[in-house]
Amino acid sequence: GAAPNLRGARPDHSPNTVDSGMTVRTRFAPSPTGELHPGNARIAVLNWLYARHCGGRFVLRIEDTDVERNVPGAEDEIIDSLRRLGLDWDEGPDVGGDRGPYRQSERASIYREFADRLLQQGVAYRCFCTPEEVEERKQAALAAGGGAAIGYDGRCRDLSTQDRESLQDRGVPASLRFAVPDGDVLVQDSVRGTVRFDAAEFSDFVIMKSDGLPTYNFGVVVDDVAMEISHVIRGVGHLDNSPRQVMIYGVLAIEPPVFVHIPHVLSPDGSPLSKRHGARSLREYLDDGFHPDALINYLSLLSWSSPSGDEVLPPDRLIEEIDIGRLGASNVRLDPEKLEWLSGEYIRKMSVDALAKRLAEQLGDATLPDRRDERTRIAAAIQERINTFAGAAHFLPQFYPPNPMAWDDAALESLTPEVVPLLEAVHASLQEIDDWSADAVVAAVRAAGKSAGAKGRALFMPVRAALTGTTQGPELGDIFVVQGKQTTLRVIEQSIDRCGADNPEDRRA
Ligand code: GLU
Repeated sequence: GAAPNLRGARPDHSPNTVDSGMTVRTRFAPSPTGELHPGNARIAVLNWLYARHCGGRFVLRIEDTDVERNVPGAEDEIIDSLRRLGLDWDEGPDVGGDRGPYRQSERASIYREFADRLLQQGVAYRCFCTPEEVEERKQAALAAGGGAAIGYDGRCRDLSTQDRESLQDRGVPASLRFAVPDGDVLVQDSVRGTVRFDAAEFSDFVIMKSDGLPTYNFGVVVDDVAMEISHVIRGVGHLDNSPRQVMIYGVLAIEPPVFVHIPHVLSPDGSPLSKRHGARSLREYLDDGFHPDALINYLSLLSWSSPSGDEVLPPDRLIEEIDIGRLGASNVRLDPEKLEWLSGEYIRKMSVDALAKRLAEQLGDATLPDRRDERTRIAAAIQERINTFAGAAHFLPQFYPPNPMAWDDAALESLTPEVVPLLEAVHASLQEIDDWSADAVVAAVRAAGKSAGAKGRALFMPVRAALTGTTQGPELGDIFVVQGKQTTLRVIEQSIDRCGADNPEDRRA
């Protein structure tokens, strides 16, 4: 066979200086085996940011050749979550492109073409061993003390032409194996530098399965070549696959892309990310109403930082500043509090109208009535108080109190028999108001307080407890206005009744 060029031949250059004329093309290549978790959502984000930074192209490719692991609906779910996050791609299964198809299951003829090329070159060969036979011989070699038994003993590599043809004629199913050459394999990784592997670690591996589908390592190389991917940004879990891929690039005499293997994302306690540790999928974060820009910001900055030291970096700035040369090599832990804080920062930056619209989408029209002025007032009233869109649900009962009214323990502490005269005075003066505006209502409450001899906290705490059933919340004026006169009076009446019971236990009953 041809002497393969095993060197990862790309010159060592800083990944952010792009040769002129070279189009940066990155890809995100999820397998449709389930939902995206923060670890792989971050991969998508970094590939997207880097392509946009370079004015390049971002490709979405679905790696669905591991038929048994495919989950129906997972592809749609992945695409939907990425779109909700705010990413866009220039080529992909849903948008097309001139280097498609973008689903591996639809590219069988392309893999076959490349496989035939390797076969002709003599760097791949047909293997007629079944997986069971391979395993049996491996166990036997181990039992005989044959040293470190590696995956495949190479039996079919040296089949005579005659034997091979007779097996083929009998229709014995064959896979295709790559003939691993001797020597070192160098993987140039922009995070870790040159990583050296000894090819002796690898036995001849399958590149095409007997069902005609490629294995992961072969499919990835063929696709990255055919799709002209310039930078492969992926999880460090794939670093050990890289030497196999580099060997295939070698026999194709094609320079490998720039590899960027980024560290793992771990749970807050340092254990692997898992549902058990409260890791949510990207969809769940979006459903829970985290601001998408905050998610992009957070996921991106898990692995690098802006030289400015700024932490709140909206997508535009991330695109401007992303520098894969600044990606760190150590694993990172999720920090849910920081993510929530960031989401709150982005919510604070929204226009009140945009927030009102988003809250209505989040909470549904049933919980947030379809009245624009009300929504807008609520959005303005809680904008400083929520870190996620879903967090608004916490405050809604204050604006739309239940009937009969309900109170929490802290509110009941304030609603003692002693405050009944005060609440009655407030009720009486509110009843007089025709122009139900925040200013008029709050002025009436103050006036009532004055006549009942209460001001400041002694006035507003019982009023808030009576009005909202709790002791903390948005401005009272906003709550009065959204509740409306009728509801406000009803709620204060029910609260006065509750104050009448002089034993707190009874009042809580
Ligand atoms: N399909 C692979 C995965 O989901 C990605 C492989 C790659 O990026 O090379 O892990």
